[in-house]
Amino acid sequence: MLNGDGLRVVLWVAGCSHCCKGCHNPVTWDPDGGLLFDETAKKEIFDQLDKSYISGITFSGGDPLHSANRAEVQRFAKEVKERYPDKTIWLYTGALWEQIYEEPVMQYLDVVVDGEFIQTQKDNTLLWKGSKNQRVINVQASLAQTDPRDPVLHCNDYAPDPDREADVRRTVGAEQVSCGCDS
Ligand code: SF4
Repeated sequence: MLNGDGLRVVLWVAGCSHCCKGCHNPVTWDPDGGLLFDETAKKEIFDQLDKSYISGITFSGGDPLHSANRAEVQRFAKEVKERYPDKTIWLYTGALWEQIYEEPVMQYLDVVVDGEFIQTQKDNTLLWKGSKNQRVINVQASLAQTDPRDPVLHCNDYAPDPDREADVRRTVGAEQVSCGCDS
């Protein structure tokens, strides 16, 4: 629930060279770390994706776009997209969109959260990201633009505040009553 819209399967891959200060997952930096991603692991993921209430898969880490991971992540993203065309694929990377938007894997992705984690910009209330500099990017909308380097965002920095929305609804309701009395 913390790694994208809905209830998701998350695959954490090993390998990251960004070395962000304050990274919450440094155990994933070593590309030789982790568990072997074999057919059993793949089946486990497919068994979860088969469930109707699972919205999709998120690739996180580590960095799924680390040079040691790119080819395998692309292959698996393609397989997931072909098998589950109605489910979404998210990917977290320390790279910037401007550096990666031409990567072949993008054709299979729905959302990319880009950029290194910057501790001085950390904010626990941000939506789907750890620091303010990162961007939650709608991949296909971005790629459809004349200049895809300028990303289209999937969402704002923060989730809508339900209390504030209730206030707005109450205000609108009061105005409607007032209008009716005056007419
Ligand atoms: S990109 Fe992510 S996994 Fe890699 S060091 Fe930065 S916060 Fe950690």
